[in-house]
Order: sequence, then C-alpha cells, then structure tokens
Amino acid sequence: MSLETSYIFVTGGVVSSLGKGIISASIGKLLQEHGYRITIQKFDPYINIDPGTLNPYEHGECYVTMDGMETDLDLGHYERFTGIHTNRNNSVTTGKIYQTVIDKERRGDYLGKTIQVVPHITDEIKRRMLRVDDPEDYDFVITEIGGTIGDIESAPFMEAVRQLKWELGNRALSVHLTYVPYLKAAGELKTKPTQHSVKELQGMGIQPDILILRTELHLEESILQKVAAFCNVSPDSVVQSEDLPSIYEVPVNMHRQGLDLAILRKLGKEAKAGDGVLSKWKNVLAMQAAATQEVTVALVGKYDLQDAYKSIRESLYIAGIYNKTKVHIKFVNSEWLTADGLEEALGTVGGMIICPGFGQRGIEGKILAVQYAREHDIPTFGICLGMQMMVIEFARNVLGLSDADSREMSATTQHNVIDIMADQKNLTRMGGTMRLGAYACRLKPDSRVRAIYGKEIVEERHRHRYEFNSEYTEAYEQAGMQCVGHNPESHLTEIVEIPTLRWFIGTQFHPEYSSTVQKPHPLFLDFIKNLKK
Ligand code: GLN
Repeated sequence: MSLETSYIFVTGGVVSSLGKGIISASIGKLLQEHGYRITIQKFDPYINIDPGTLNPYEHGECYVTMDGMETDLDLGHYERFTGIHTNRNNSVTTGKIYQTVIDKERRGDYLGKTIQVVPHITDEIKRRMLRVDDPEDYDFVITEIGGTIGDIESAPFMEAVRQLKWELGNRALSVHLTYVPYLKAAGELKTKPTQHSVKELQGMGIQPDILILRTELHLEESILQKVAAFCNVSPDSVVQSEDLPSIYEVPVNMHRQGLDLAILRKLGKEAKAGDGVLSKWKNVLAMQAAATQEVTVALVGKYDLQDAYKSIRESLYIAGIYNKTKVHIKFVNSEWLTADGLEEALGTVGGMIICPGFGQRGIEGKILAVQYAREHDIPTFGICLGMQMMVIEFARNVLGLSDADSREMSATTQHNVIDIMADQKNLTRMGGTMRLGAYACRLKPDSRVRAIYGKEIVEERHRHRYEFNSEYTEAYEQAGMQCVGHNPESHLTEIVEIPTLRWFIGTQFHPEYSSTVQKPHPLFLDFIKNLKK
C-alpha cells in the first residue's frame, strides 16, 4: 500500500445473498478498465480459520488460490471478472484475526496489557484491510465484508471500517448494498428496509457514500431520489442492480448508471477511460447473445446446491460463450443414481462432469455414471475425485480388479489404485494440510491434452490428499487409459485420458479455478467444443 491507495468497503444490508461478491468484482473490473491497479479481498465473520473444513452446504464451494489458500467462493468471482490472481491475504476470517492476536499475546508482544476486541482485534483487522504487509502497490483496495449489517459477529469488522473511514478521510469510501422488495398485494416497491439498513450503518458511525439497490423490478428515478434524500447520499450515488440474465452483465449495468464515475469522483481520482470502458468485455457478452446452439451437460455430484460447484458451473457457461453455445446444466445426484436410472439421467446429455468431492457418499453413483459414459462414448470430464472415479471404474470393469478402490474409501482393498500421498500419511490435523495450490504439470507429447493446451508445461491448482497409484501405470496404459500429465518433480500422475473415446479426460487438479471471462480454460473450451450435439 502507499499513501495514494484508496480503500472501498462493500457491505450488505436487509438480507444475505444479494450478490455483494458480484458487485465487488464489478467495481474491481470497472476500476481496472480505467487503468488502475486493484485488489479485492473478502472478510468473513465466521470463526473457522478458512472455509477448507466447511461442508459446501454451509458456505458453498471452497475456492483455492494459486498460493494454496482455501478461500471463500467470492474470490472466484473476483478472479473470473478481473483476471487477476488473488492470494492468501485476500481471504480473512474472524478465526484468522483471533489466531494472529492470540499468537502475539502468547509471544508476549502485548506484555502487561489486557487484550480486547477494541483495540487489539480491530487493529489487526485494520492492518489486514490496509494490507500493511503487502509488497504490491495498489490504487484501490476493495474490501467486501461478509454477512449482513447488524450481525453480532461482524461488529468488529464494522468498527474497523468506521475507524478507517475516519482516519483515511477522502481515501475511503463505503458502498452499501441493500434490497428493495416488491409487495405484490400492495403493488408497491418498498424502500423502508433500505432506510432501516442505512440507519443501522449510521448507528455504527458509518455514513454510506454509495448505495446500490438490489431489485427484481426496475426502479423509477423517483424511488432512487427518495432513497438518496432519506439516507444522506447524493442523488448521483444511488444506483440499482436489477436481476439480469447473466451476472456478467452487472459491470455494464453499473457503468451505464455511472457507478465507476461516482466512485472515482468521490475518491478524487481521474476517470481515465473514455467510451472504451468494457469494450472487450462487451464483445464477450455479444458472443453470449449470439449463441446458436444449446447443449445440456450433466453435473454428477452429491451437492444439489447452486453454489457447491460454482467455479465448474461458471467455467462451463464461459466456455459455452466462446463456442457460441448456451450450456444448460443438469444436476444429477450421484447419491441416488442406480444402474436402472442411468438411461433416464444421462441418456440425452451432451456430456458430463464427474465432480470433485470427499468421502464415500455418492461415489458408487459416480462410478456408474463413468461406466455409462465410457461404454456409450459420452464426452466426460472428471475433476479431482471425478478423475479418481474414472480410474477406479476402469480398474473394476476393464482391468478386472473388482475390489479396486481409493484408500480414502477402503483401508483394506487389495487394489488401491488411488492411494494416499506419502506426505499426507502421518498428518493429524485436517485444516490446510492437503496438497494445495498451483503445481507444474508436464504434458506428454502426442497426448490429447498436449494438443489442447498447446504447450508442454502447465500450472494448475490442487486440493486433495490422494493420488493415482503409479504401480498400476503399465496395466492402465496397456488397456487403453493413458497417464498423460505428470508433476515434473514428484512424477505424480495428474491427468488420465482414453484417446480412443470422443472426449474422456480426468484431471487430478481443478482447472475450474483458473477459467476467467476473458481467458476461458482450454480444457473447458475443448470439452464444450466436443460435446454430443
Ligand atoms: N477426496 C479426494 C482426495 O482427497 C478428492 C478431493 C477433491 O475432489 N478435491 O484426494
């Protein structure tokens, strides 16, 4: 950070799930379009150190940064919108804050003092909000605060924002996202919840500078003016965020209403972009609108929840855009999938994704789906656990090893074709101990993946404890499943493919974390291109 850095704090009120992550990502994108260096970070009020140990039902997908931090899924939006890699400092939880303060207390850094929420916890929050330790220089640091205004647990974050707004003066800005509900019986859009939410924020000593009103229906100018007048916000600083067909239209909609200009003006920064703002981005949206084909991809997994496989879903949609194809996703719950139901569940899909995951639940269904895909030559992409299921299915049904399994699922199998990694064997702690983050992978010449990537060495992000057991490599390759990607140092197998099939590739890593709107991942692009249409 430098004395030139400006800080934008994004909070949400009235209800959760308004899309603060999308708004934060859109603000970042717009400022980037004006030529500024930005970073976006997320502060979550829960006490877990990171979401790595959380069930996706609790908090959606766990996103992984290049440097191996398990983070909130909003970081995925930040990366997909801006194309900029986040890192371990961009995801902060109450747990991390307390851990740092308690470690300091034990070291004796505060000898003689009583450690309190104010100032010790709030000081640590402020230090991270300011990114004091970050060697990078930014023009804007955007900080999204998780949860909803008024939550007990986010109070220290709000107090830190209050102090920083006071200390930084015109280098800090508060953007508040609220909800304007429509009451059908009354036939009216209601602004009262927004007024209350702003009052609550003001009660904490924070005056919002910009209000973004989430709404399902278009808001007339008079409503925006009324909100401005009641909330002490200038009329040009109240914008609406209507439901749109695609989240990728949000930056365009925000720009149309002058959000970027309002932010820049209030922070005393120059609006550097002219009419060209978002021109490349708009080309992508134009491609999206021009899709001429439609295809359905089955997502075979165990979490029937939009957010659980967020990055995979977005990677599929984005790859669809570049293939002029509208991708429909059909969730297939592997927990309930039986041999009898395969035809109905998968008979008409253009391809399938075998999803990542942990533990026994739903894996037999995934194995059945893989077998169906292999035998009917349906394009299939296995990711992490999905790749492992491809390997197990092949062992059981092609190599004739009927008890083949992963060590994760069976401690006693004679044929542990997926085995625990050596460095994972003696671990006793669960949090942050997997093989995490980016590792290099060397692609075999003449393999399909080599042709797809168009280069020999790639870097991809990992999050797992188990691996392909190399004792079986020869048996697999002779029978037709090739090991085509290896870690150059450890020689772990990272990719398998069956070249005789239309598209049958499994990756131990997670390519979905690296697919962005303006740079879709080559594997997803090629997968969509080769779907059954
Ligand atoms: N459970 C598997 C492992 O730990 C796969 C993990 C995943 O799909 N992310 O290796």
